[in-house]
Amino acid sequence: MERTPIVETPEHAGEEVLIRGWVDIRRDHGKLVFLDVRDRSGKVQLVILPGTDAAVSVSDVRSEYAVEIEGLVKERPERMRNPDLATGSVEIEAKTLRVLGKPSVELPIDVSQLDLGVNLDTLLNHRTLALRNVKVRAIFSIYSELLRSYDEAMRGGGFVEIKTPKILGSATEGGANFFKIKYFDRDAFLAQSPQFYKQAAMSAFERVFEIGTVFRAEPHFTTRHVNEYTGLDAEMGFIDGMETIMAELERTMKHIFRNIGEACEAELALYGESVPDEVAIPRISLSETADILRAEYGKELEGYDIDAEGERMICEYVKKTFGSDLVFLTRYPTKLRPFYSMPSSDDPSFTETFDLLFRGVEIASGGQRIHEAEMLTDNIRMFGLDPEDFGDYIDIFRYGAPPHGGWGLGSERIVQKLLGLGSIKEAVLYPRDVKRLTP
Ligand code: ATP
Ligand code: MG
Repeated sequence: MERTPIVETPEHAGEEVLIRGWVDIRRDHGKLVFLDVRDRSGKVQLVILPGTDAAVSVSDVRSEYAVEIEGLVKERPERMRNPDLATGSVEIEAKTLRVLGKPSVELPIDVSQLDLGVNLDTLLNHRTLALRNVKVRAIFSIYSELLRSYDEAMRGGGFVEIKTPKILGSATEGGANFFKIKYFDRDAFLAQSPQFYKQAAMSAFERVFEIGTVFRAEPHFTTRHVNEYTGLDAEMGFIDGMETIMAELERTMKHIFRNIGEACEAELALYGESVPDEVAIPRISLSETADILRAEYGKELEGYDIDAEGERMICEYVKKTFGSDLVFLTRYPTKLRPFYSMPSSDDPSFTETFDLLFRGVEIASGGQRIHEAEMLTDNIRMFGLDPEDFGDYIDIFRYGAPPHGGWGLGSERIVQKLLGLGSIKEAVLYPRDVKRLTP
């Protein structure tokens, strides 16, 4: 018999089916045994009657056994239906039960509970088992849809997918936040951004995107940082200015949220959350932001350097004023942005750069980059760096490059904020932080 996905069992009422899955929970009622069995598609209740073959093989079956069952799908009487379950209208009367795999240790957590009720450390220590929990799995179904939608939005915009090297010969762009590794007989560094390579690729392909691992050696102890994350990057040429880039990022975010809203309704419902309303994303300059924060919250932005509290405040203000969960903050001061940022033509102490904030947290940084070798060389010096160290990078612009720019978008923060997760680590399959390298 062919396997039936559990979610489809109600369509087979009155028929025999074969299902495979894990035992979620076992309940004994006198001589009757009930099993909730789940596979990737859903969960269904099984009943095992005394005297059947299944009654013999079920004797030692407990939670998380992997099983195969053949049985009859029976419509349940109206009053016995389970409205919380997609398969709640049926029950499967098992004929045979075969154990395909069984736990050999005591299970450290009960994953059948809707809410695991364990702290973050316990959740992550028992990650492989915790991932079987329906709410935990929902995070990664949404994450999967996010990656698919980003890919789709980028290709739809004419972007070519690239993969840039993550092992680098030198720690250019900054220095302090690079992990140093042994590379045969010399030192190498793990990439903390695909910045230079995506600009180089832009100079050939015009529009490129990358979904890639980013390594950050910063010793953070926050709810929004990990030391290894997945960046959703893009770089585009022949722009009119940073407005072209923001428009493209806005289009992309809307595409992502629309898809997640449609494809992941059930997953969002588990968290009582929904995707942001589709409204125009406001653009507010840092100097306007400073005025707003002073007037509304009595908060001073020293040197226009917005901190986590300021980001929360401006998001709250934007939500109540414009009904938007997202906001672009624009024109960051030159000294707070990387040396390759394009200075604003009317005031070079500001840059043509932006951050995108979502529900109180930065999810992306982007902007227009300098595309002239001479100007770039001057800027490198101005930042106290040595142009000699940036030969390959400056070369990109010696061959003729158009006005261009792009963004770096953090994938995990999007899911964290979308679901209201306490920590970004819940949105990473196996997170790496200062203390954690296992599992
Ligand atoms: P923050 O100021 O929040 O530390 P950043 O400005 O250093 O972030 P960028 O270099 O601008 O980060 O990286 C682009 C995006 O990548 C960020 O907006 C964020 O979404 C994501 N990101 C950056 N660092 C981390 C990290 N350590 N963990 C998870 N995501 C990150
Ligand atoms: Mg940033």
